[in-house]
Amino acid sequence: MVSSDTTPIAAHGGTLVSRVIAGEEHPAALDLAAALPAVTVDAQTVADLELIATGAYSPLTGFMGLADYQRVLHEMRLANGLPWSLPITLRVTDARKIRDTVALETPDGRAVALLQVREVFTHSKEEEAQLAYGTTDPKHPGVAQLYGQGHFLVAGDIRLLRRTAPTFPELALDPADTRRAFAERGWRTVVGFQTRNPVHRAHEYIQKAALETVDGLLLHPLLGPTKDDDVPAAMRYAGPREAVFHALVRKNYGCTHFIVGRDHAGVGNYYGTYDAQRIFERFAPAELGIHPICFEHTFYCQRCGGMASPKTCPHDAESHVTLSGTKVRELLRSGTLPPPEFSRPEVGQVLADGLREVVVA
Ligand SMILES: [Zn+2]
Repeated sequence: MVSSDTTPIAAHGGTLVSRVIAGEEHPAALDLAAALPAVTVDAQTVADLELIATGAYSPLTGFMGLADYQRVLHEMRLANGLPWSLPITLRVTDARKIRDTVALETPDGRAVALLQVREVFTHSKEEEAQLAYGTTDPKHPGVAQLYGQGHFLVAGDIRLLRRTAPTFPELALDPADTRRAFAERGWRTVVGFQTRNPVHRAHEYIQKAALETVDGLLLHPLLGPTKDDDVPAAMRYAGPREAVFHALVRKNYGCTHFIVGRDHAGVGNYYGTYDAQRIFERFAPAELGIHPICFEHTFYCQRCGGMASPKTCPHDAESHVTLSGTKVRELLRSGTLPPPEFSRPEVGQVLADGLREVVVA
């Protein structure tokens, strides 16, 4: 395995993992996959496979076995002691065919990866839910997804056969690509901003505030269906534990800093407002290898005459321009752009056009 590290920050665990089958090996691997027993996997697993194969989940080279799984749940560490906050597992309903090497395929029958089976085990889903998500409530989207999956956990190294066609190919960068891009720009410090929402003024303000202290910014959106759908491709809504997970993944993309907002990766009222920021205190900075930068929620204040947060603005809420996501969608559907203090008009226009297309379709 060759590390393509070109930036000062090493991948988590020291080496950027690469498990993509390419070149002259590829046709034979496809033939092999066609001849092997096949296991159908869901959209989240397909996303996990690509993230493992491209090194986004370094040092993982496959799905976790019992030793890693247990220690991750109880101590937020892999069996070797390295920080890791969420289990990355393959769950199946029927484990009878599963031994040696199997082909993993999408529901429409395309083989996407080879899995070298190391271990098959079972474990209480309720315990996993309680430890990873902090709740066993089946209304929590991450817990609901877990409860809908199979009972058997299959562990082993994977190798990727096929990629999913990206929605925006020109923006789909693997960790090796972002690392190269940072190096080309001479960036030694890069802050990662993860979002599942359009960039409104509040996000822009936080990004700029962070960018003032480092060389570059990686705006890293999650694509695909998220909260309103039953397939949160890469999003698990595990709140605090997911914030640590997101930070470690951005480290693998070459970031040195990571923005953690209030309620990061939260959903409903399952987590305390600052839980996702405080959880980082449970690790020594050196063992995480990426610096969390914590932010308050921000807003435009009429009396300050600019963007601010409770840390910098002494005025009360009546002076603040804040809108709920629901209110913003309502405005956009009625053809009204949100106020410019909330969203840049050009951003509002793209969203309004997008919503119109959905309604027409
Ligand atoms: Zn103010």
